[in-house]
Amino acid sequence: MATPLTGSQLLAALRAEGLVVHEVRDWRRHNRNTKGPWGPMHGVVVHHTATEGTDASVDVCYDGRPDLPGPLCHGVIDKAGEVHLVGNGRANHAGLGDRNVLQAVIDEEELPKDELADTDGNRHFYGFECINLGDGQDPWPEAQLLAVERASAAICRAHGWGERSVIGHLEWQPGKIDPRGFTMDALRARIAARLSHPPEGPASPDAQGRPDGTGDGTGPPADSAGGGAGAGGGAGGDDARNPPVPPMPQHPPYEPFPGAEFFRSGARSPVLAAMAQRLIAEGCDHYRHGPAPEWNEAHRKSYASWQRKLGFHGKDADGVPGRVTWDRLHVPNTRAAGDA
Ligand SMILES: [Zn+2]
Repeated sequence: MATPLTGSQLLAALRAEGLVVHEVRDWRRHNRNTKGPWGPMHGVVVHHTATEGTDASVDVCYDGRPDLPGPLCHGVIDKAGEVHLVGNGRANHAGLGDRNVLQAVIDEEELPKDELADTDGNRHFYGFECINLGDGQDPWPEAQLLAVERASAAICRAHGWGERSVIGHLEWQPGKIDPRGFTMDALRARIAARLSHPPEGPASPDAQGRPDGTGDGTGPPADSAGGGAGAGGGAGGDDARNPPVPPMPQHPPYEPFPGAEFFRSGARSPVLAAMAQRLIAEGCDHYRHGPAPEWNEAHRKSYASWQRKLGFHGKDADGVPGRVTWDRLHVPNTRAAGDA
């Protein structure tokens, strides 16, 4: 299950995606968590505000309306493409939507038409309100569309999701028309393209330092069983800095990579159960009915989420474990567990 991002994690993810982000008042503690559950997280819902003017729109999204208390979303995206964070936690943006749509989002499959209003969306979705009148006339500047793309991709990246985890309010709740002025399929295509590259880093160089190992803009090494490169390209440097390795314990704490050929349809092993528990703990959970003891499609999809979470894409995020991502998953050694 995907644990909600903390305020700091959300802020860092948005800035790493190149966004200018404003923190509004007490947004980190502003939520509706006393009114209902928050999480596990499954996706992002995009809206239009049906208002105009940045300050007025941000205030409404923070404070709410007489009939609907704020926050009305997590971030407001203005016409200049800047993000205003107004909430952290449960927010009144998604209302009741269709359980079949939620399941499709979880499975990252094609969306059915939204016909039901039986499922609490505020529990499971991040929300972005984009400032637009929604009258079909008010333009969507490219800077704003780019910010919607970046904000959505930032959350997908943080959770290891693909572009199908981003939906429009009109795809979630019957009767809703927002966002109006672009199609969600077009937005998802942009998000998919963005997710196939590493994030470009903060907008202004002094806003936030880049995390180690991503400063040169190159991707991570290929996650193939044969590729000997260490994650982040820093293996040589690490070896030089680290003290000598102590003698190996009889059972290493983590399950060694069993080889890509281990992960074939129907293969059974306690290693798979241990792997699944780690994937679930990392929020990479496509196990609709809990993990099966043998390798199957749910294992593959969950592992693909893990690969994407680490920044892999394309065939390096095909869901078949490779040595680099396996070692970073820290699957507990199934034999060591029995030795205590
Ligand atoms: Zn809406």
